[in-house]
Amino acid sequence: MLNIILFGPPGSGKGTQAQLLCDKYGLVHISTGDLFRDEIRKETALGIRAKGYLDKGELVPDEVTIGMFSSRLDHEIAAGAEGFIFDGFPRTVKQAEELDQLLAKRTMKVKRVLSIVVSVGELTKRILLRGKDSGRSDDLNEELVAKRIAEYNSKTTPVAGYYEMHGLLRIIEGEGSVEEVFRRLSEAIDHAA
Ligand code: AMP
Repeated sequence: MLNIILFGPPGSGKGTQAQLLCDKYGLVHISTGDLFRDEIRKETALGIRAKGYLDKGELVPDEVTIGMFSSRLDHEIAAGAEGFIFDGFPRTVKQAEELDQLLAKRTMKVKRVLSIVVSVGELTKRILLRGKDSGRSDDLNEELVAKRIAEYNSKTTPVAGYYEMHGLLRIIEGEGSVEEVFRRLSEAIDHAA
């Protein structure tokens, strides 16, 4: 099973790239951000709890996130998934440790961690532009965008360190066209040991 983790700050293009990679390698895309937005739309108890954090640009507590992720993982495995792109998960070291355990229980493991890197100036520009079309409230406000990028840097960068320690991390330059970034990501997957 090919299981890939895609890292990247908000606006790095990871959602778009995740979709392209799923199509190319026959993988299932699990985006915890999308799952939260779905729960919020449906006004479930989980959605109502998560909304406050998303509105503030903060991470949802680990136990809520891990529970939601784990049930989605089980659901997709039961539906016949043959590999995954994990997008937006794990975002804390605790989530990374839990992911290792969740996968090990199912005799699966992470094959490659790809971290898309884009400068803060470019990220802010891209997100504010995306907000105009997507209507995502967390994309529309410059202060909130800066907070999400800071939150990413403080909480998620240590997660990259966790995977670097395990020899799984590859840094991918995220500026350039969608096709260029996709080619870089594909090469890193194809050359995974
Ligand atoms: P994203 O679409 O990945 O940018 O995520 C949007 C928001 O969902 C984040 O700003 C967090 O509030 C929340 N979120 C998504 N994934 C996670 C995660 N793994 N852990 C905690 N919060 C998350």
